[in-house]
Amino acid sequence: MKQPRITLLGAAGEVTGSCTLIETDRARIVVDVGMVQGTPEAEQRNRQLPSIDWSSVDAIVLTHVHIDHCGRLPMTLPAGFTGPVWTTEASAALLPKVLRGSASLQQVRKHEWRNGSAPFARAIFDGDPLHLAREAMPEPPILFVNSHVSQLMGRVNTLRWGEDHEIAPGVRLRFLNAGHVLGAASVELTIGRGNDECVVLCSGDLGPQSNALHQPPMSPPRADIIVLESTNGAKERHVRPDPETQFSTILREAAAGDERVLIPTFALGRAQQIVLRLANLAKRNELYGLNVYLDSSMAVRVTDRFREHLDHLSHAVRMAFEAGEHPLEFPGLQRVTSRTQSLAIRDRRHGAVILAGAGFCDAGPILHHLAAGIDRKDCRIILAGFHPPGSVGDGLRRGAKLVEINGAVIEVHAKVDEIDGLSGHGDRDDLLTWLDGIDERPSTVILNHGTNDARAIFADAIRARIGCNVEVPGVGEEQGSRI
Ligand SMILES: [Zn+2]
Repeated sequence: MKQPRITLLGAAGEVTGSCTLIETDRARIVVDVGMVQGTPEAEQRNRQLPSIDWSSVDAIVLTHVHIDHCGRLPMTLPAGFTGPVWTTEASAALLPKVLRGSASLQQVRKHEWRNGSAPFARAIFDGDPLHLAREAMPEPPILFVNSHVSQLMGRVNTLRWGEDHEIAPGVRLRFLNAGHVLGAASVELTIGRGNDECVVLCSGDLGPQSNALHQPPMSPPRADIIVLESTNGAKERHVRPDPETQFSTILREAAAGDERVLIPTFALGRAQQIVLRLANLAKRNELYGLNVYLDSSMAVRVTDRFREHLDHLSHAVRMAFEAGEHPLEFPGLQRVTSRTQSLAIRDRRHGAVILAGAGFCDAGPILHHLAAGIDRKDCRIILAGFHPPGSVGDGLRRGAKLVEINGAVIEVHAKVDEIDGLSGHGDRDDLLTWLDGIDERPSTVILNHGTNDARAIFADAIRARIGCNVEVPGVGEEQGSRI
């Protein structure tokens, strides 16, 4: 069997910046071209695309529209890429919104940086300097503009579940539901035919096996080589109450104290996962009189697309839509789509639940809600999912008593709660169950999207479970796949 060459061009030893190159003797395919996310310093790396000859790439395949998977796609055109981009219909519908939102944010950040008002937030621990000069932040880059997004969208092609198509000489593509967010897919590339056939499966981000909003991730029938995400590959499952029960307990207490509940939220995934749970609680009168504000225009726009892509959704949510209900709406949910509205809500002092972006607390309306409430005992912050080291969310989780938000050092008196079970990523058991579901087991698994510690722990777990070769390459290290 002729072996494809697989190279991680990003997300090798870290959780963002996804980009994988698959090469045969006749074709070059890139899966995802994402942004690095995290600190302003880390994001400087986005200025450069991976240094390959983009004019020689036959096709790019996009697994889903999270910015760490799609955020540098528009940069490939000026770099010489002339081929098509393949993705699912739902991702193609969301992609221009996400990329235009990113282009706009890049302009805003640059402008704010130049006039000294760039958003800035961090947790402060003993020994840290009290103030960090915002001027010391590197200048945010402009990576692309809207005209690049328009050109890119002219290249986008879609496949439905189950369809396959030859996207480059000798390479057929099929998408499998990944159960991660709306539109998310694993990428199955069948290379060659007959005895020479080799199936490469790039998992993309994989959702948990039990998911209230989406279908569980689909294992492929066969995969010879798997590029597998390992974001939560070191995370063991803990048996805890389901998220609705956790929310209900917290909201009962919050309502009794007329508290303001702040939830840092991502526009695609986390926002809808939480709104679905709150909608279910609303049906049972377990919001206890608290209004809920969805303070993210992008989250509002993304939520409106769910009803158009029922084949990505869980059975229960699909049935609800088909019955004419809207499982992502409920009385008491208010959509906030302007800064003026957001500031007005911030300045009211009654109990409420506010879901606001950005999910990493590094920008967006969550910053002014935190700045107004974090020093108050009648404020509560709910953390769900991953927060990068050094971020406010990570600091609050670790018990920080001080934060700096946009130049102001603020004492933390708000309560901090964590809710499990809302991650869009499967844990170690979920990922192993997904591997177990493959009838013809892989000979090689290459791990991406995880810290090196997570990859090492997860690699041992895979070797123990299915006994195959597991590799954890660095960026740019070509893996001659051994079959
Ligand atoms: Zn993702």
